[in-house]
Amino acid sequence: MIVIKSQDEITTMRKAGRHVAEILQILREKIRPGVTTLFLNGIAESECKKRNARPAFKGYGGFPFTICASPNNKVVHGFADSVPLRQGDIVSIDFGLIIDGFYGDSAITVPVGNVDEEIEKLLRVTQASLMAGIAAANSGQHLSDISHAVQTKVEQNDFSVVRDFVGHGIGRRLHEEPQVPNYGEAGHGIVLKEGMTIAIEPMVNVGQPGVKVLDDGWTAVTIDSSWSAHFEHTIAITENGPEILTCLGNI
Ligand code: MG
Ligand code: MG
Repeated sequence: MIVIKSQDEITTMRKAGRHVAEILQILREKIRPGVTTLFLNGIAESECKKRNARPAFKGYGGFPFTICASPNNKVVHGFADSVPLRQGDIVSIDFGLIIDGFYGDSAITVPVGNVDEEIEKLLRVTQASLMAGIAAANSGQHLSDISHAVQTKVEQNDFSVVRDFVGHGIGRRLHEEPQVPNYGEAGHGIVLKEGMTIAIEPMVNVGQPGVKVLDDGWTAVTIDSSWSAHFEHTIAITENGPEILTCLGNI
């Protein structure tokens, strides 16, 4: 069942989303060579406490950290650890929280110092594919219009879209219906309606789309060891079009 949110509920989700965005911004500013993802995890945790928010991922299905930290060939759901980030790395940080009963969920991929030109392009294209997906999230359009917009942007730029993980509805639960794939033909699936709130989250690989999960049961890596980027926003479908909830500066 897809849960439609009221204006008041979307207002609360806007608040949750703003806190997610602010915390990701704080983390982004800390990322430089020598920093560990465990350090970033600690910052995210103390920021949640400060804001009376609860981390969304810690304890979710047994996940042990507040952030998912996935450098380089790791795709999603990586564990924070004490390995220093190096100049030229990239690191995806996926972070969510719950505040006043509602979730916000967002992800960014950040370069560590200067990165190769192709990797810079990977970050740019992945973010652009997220924005293309968001632009297709209008009342009256089909769910797979989002998927198709993401895939098209990625493949036009000679990268590939991960199939094994998808976006999702979000609200009082972290994962609600519908699932939001990042690939597919346009014009399929449910018709989008005002009051739907979804997390769109393309994962994009330099090489092949295949991924596998490591023995820790969580960390997904590319099968061909190519590098991977991940960007995510929680959005609401409104009468004025898609609204990004996980952004800085909203009320
Ligand atoms: Mg996420
Ligand atoms: Mg998500």
